[in-house]
Amino acid sequence: MTEPLIYDLGSPGRAGIKMPDPDVPLADLPADLARDDLDLPEVSEVDVVRHYTRLSILNHSIDKGFYPLGSCTMKYNPRLNEDMARLPGLAAVHPYQDPETAQGALELMYETQEWLKEIGGFAGVSLQPSAGAQGEFTGILIMRAYHRDRGDTRRTRILIPDSAHGTNPASTTMSGLEVIEIPSDARGNVDLESLRAHCDDTVVGLMITNPNTLGLFEDQIVPIIELVHNCGGLVYGDGANLNALMGIVRPGDLGFDVMHYNLHKTFSTPHGGGGPGSGPVGVAEHLAPYLPGPLVDIVEGAESEGEMPRYQLVMPARSIGRMKAFYGNFGVIVRAYTYMMVNGSDGLRRVSEMAVLNANYLRARLRNTYHVPYDRVNMHEFVIEGRFADAPGIHALDISKRLMDYGMHPPTNYFPLIVHEALMIEPTETESKESLDAFCNAMVSIAREAREQPELLRDAPHSTPVGRLDEVRAARQLSLCCRPIANPD
Ligand SMILES: *Cc1c(COP(=O)(O)O)cnc(C)c1O
Repeated sequence: MTEPLIYDLGSPGRAGIKMPDPDVPLADLPADLARDDLDLPEVSEVDVVRHYTRLSILNHSIDKGFYPLGSCTMKYNPRLNEDMARLPGLAAVHPYQDPETAQGALELMYETQEWLKEIGGFAGVSLQPSAGAQGEFTGILIMRAYHRDRGDTRRTRILIPDSAHGTNPASTTMSGLEVIEIPSDARGNVDLESLRAHCDDTVVGLMITNPNTLGLFEDQIVPIIELVHNCGGLVYGDGANLNALMGIVRPGDLGFDVMHYNLHKTFSTPHGGGGPGSGPVGVAEHLAPYLPGPLVDIVEGAESEGEMPRYQLVMPARSIGRMKAFYGNFGVIVRAYTYMMVNGSDGLRRVSEMAVLNANYLRARLRNTYHVPYDRVNMHEFVIEGRFADAPGIHALDISKRLMDYGMHPPTNYFPLIVHEALMIEPTETESKESLDAFCNAMVSIAREAREQPELLRDAPHSTPVGRLDEVRAARQLSLCCRPIANPD
């Protein structure tokens, strides 16, 4: 990396601001408060702006280029969402404020709950969880509480297909329950016979992603849900892939009992550096009493004679409690609300249609160059194999690293686990045909390079600030300092 530390820029005495002359007499600080060893950078405004602008483009981002990171739904984050989240009335509202003085913020949360209920086909929604994974954890706690309330304490197992996202078994284990893995069939869907064999009175529920992480719709979703319900289990929907179904199919109508939404995927809010995200949970009628709170509700009877409705915070009767301080990630909720409002119901359906169309376009263009293990009409993403029979030294990782030289973020590597050398590609609906074509052209060129100049792939990337790292050595010999610290104490 060539960018120096800000401490190594500037020169003594240089400053970014000019203070006005004081209109009071100058006085010295008391000697015990004065410090003369403050090692602060002495830089002008232009030094600072250029430094951070250069740093900001060293990393790849959705604002810089194509980002087909499968399962993560790296769609463009509209700037309007940011403007709305920065409105002073929303940005400066304080969580300890009397709800009577924050009615606008509560109305926004109420409508977000209502719209998510409508989109998912659920009876209740809580905006509390702050990520998809936390939504999963919430959903499992809800399912567990439901069974316990009925005295059904034998149930300790959660069934999870082998194509599932790693957070599914992780949140199950965190809840103290046992994971039972269900294999996929030859078409990439849940193996019904195996599922049937595991359905008994020890099952808390099934966690299933639809479309699954291969980007394939579960054709048998209705019989799958029936099987689980018939043994007294509940069905959890991992809603991270809702951007393939929104406005077309409602998981609640299919029979799902509980599902999380990823606002930072489906509803275009930024993923941030590991957060903040938002993973609201929707539930069917029988699970509504267990939702984490507080929820926002309309005060009964306060609506009379053309008055504005009044909103209040309520805790569901048998709530599992809070999942997070205060009211969820409010700033993220504002962004998702804006996105839903701008698109409207027709627009949200169109989002899903375009996401699915774009992904099928890519598969159709790449299927003669790369092996597509489950080569059938996919939803919003699909998986190819990053290996070639006639270029044995080349792995998915080499293809991904080389793609960075073409100015694009790699697809998701080595996931789902059931595909060898998996490359999972999700273009999202926000990409134009030109950027989809540029990606296909790059992938076709890379396939040719794999045969003709394999070292170009194995040593890639060549054009990024940092080249191919020895990841094992980087972890063992961790070096986090750019230069020695002068006064370690
Ligand atoms: C992203 C994702 C999750 C987890 O969501 P986070 O918000 O990252 O915690 C779970 N399942 C699937 C299929 C996902 O793509």
